[in-house]
Amino acid sequence: MEERTFICENIGVNGEGHLTFAGQDTVGLAARYGTPLYLLDEDRIRDRCRIYTQAFRDFFGAGSRPLYASKANAFRHIYRIMSEEEMGIDVVSSGEIHTAVSAGFDMSRAFFHSNNKTDEDIRYAMDCGVGFFVADNEEEILALEAEAARRGAVQKVLLRLTPGIDPHTYEAVDTGRVDSKFGSAIETGQAETFTAMTLRQPHIRLEGFHCHVGSMVFWEDVYERAAAVMLKFMAHIRDRYGYVAGILDMGGGYGVRYVDSDGFLDIREKVKTLSDFMREECRELKLPMPAVMMEPGRSIVADAGMTLYTCGTVKKIPGYKNYVSVDGGMTDNPRFALYGSKYTVYAANKMNAERPLACTVAGRCCESGDVIQEDVPLPADIGRGDIIAVCTTGAYNYSMASNYNRIPRPPIVMLCQGESYVAVRRETLEDLTALDV
Ligand SMILES: *Cc1c(COP(=O)(O)O)cnc(C)c1O
Repeated sequence: MEERTFICENIGVNGEGHLTFAGQDTVGLAARYGTPLYLLDEDRIRDRCRIYTQAFRDFFGAGSRPLYASKANAFRHIYRIMSEEEMGIDVVSSGEIHTAVSAGFDMSRAFFHSNNKTDEDIRYAMDCGVGFFVADNEEEILALEAEAARRGAVQKVLLRLTPGIDPHTYEAVDTGRVDSKFGSAIETGQAETFTAMTLRQPHIRLEGFHCHVGSMVFWEDVYERAAAVMLKFMAHIRDRYGYVAGILDMGGGYGVRYVDSDGFLDIREKVKTLSDFMREECRELKLPMPAVMMEPGRSIVADAGMTLYTCGTVKKIPGYKNYVSVDGGMTDNPRFALYGSKYTVYAANKMNAERPLACTVAGRCCESGDVIQEDVPLPADIGRGDIIAVCTTGAYNYSMASNYNRIPRPPIVMLCQGESYVAVRRETLEDLTALDV
């Protein structure tokens, strides 16, 4: 048989022609746990965390730390992993905070984002001892000041700024531009007004600045260009107000491979290049090198994930399309419906078969946009009972899942050193009515 390469190195084929993930037979896993099923390769997640933590230790200064962006995939056990791997976390809601707290995560290493924290969120986060708030706008600073004052506390804060960088990615995930709903723009002077106002608040300690340029970033110099704008701003604030920021948080966004045409990123090399660049800029600006944070989400969990489905029906419409319908869909993976996202899809129990049939893999929801992927090459005899595997689903699948059509959400099964265990159980029909009175 010819040498085969797969979209990620934790994927293979065994002697029975079955797809393997993290060295385990996916057809066996589907039989054992049922479908639809989210698999997560825990060893891969830990490995990705270690690449970040080691690179941060080697290239950025003291106090620097990678923060896992919870929104990519948030459930209790992942916070335990992040805790053991000495990651910080970025959280965006009381729900993520609650989940992290219930996993015993040290919340002094948590950074609370979002462009609209409610008063309740602010109180809950302070009750839980969240270390840093990343304030998005002036109203939020006033709300934080008021709550910290009420408690007689001083709250550590970063300000989210928009450096005006277009990361050349998809519109829907561009967030570093001036016209974004996130942050305050440097270009318009709002960032400076925001900073000056924050510095005047007695119960807020400004620790530094944050920016996030976007998602699925592969482009060479996006972070360097954003860092240049941010560091220049920091030097300006020092000259004008005598305030030197200790932290620069560069956000998340490194891309991963969904399909063969996506590139490979060497995260360690990326971190080194950014660090060298920042040191040089700081030297020129006579600015001390800040502690650097980054907030990887997708690049920690995406390719540690795979979703297994069972094929139900195959509908061939001669001259048009072939539909392969599976037992999940936009309820467990809305990304094609939302963004037209690309995925690599395999027939897990027929990996040695030719794949002449171009198929639309569709879900089971009452919605014609309920598609997982178009133009998927599948075996000619694909049919009821075959196992369909969708790769690279570890990020923004479970966290974006819904109960549309009252479809229960799949469980998350972790794969760890040749073993498997349930980290999130399958929703039951009773769960679906648990809130109904
Ligand atoms: C979404 C987001 C991240 C994570 O982005 P990835 O593309 O998953 O790495 C990090 N920080 C902020 C502020 C975000 O909004």
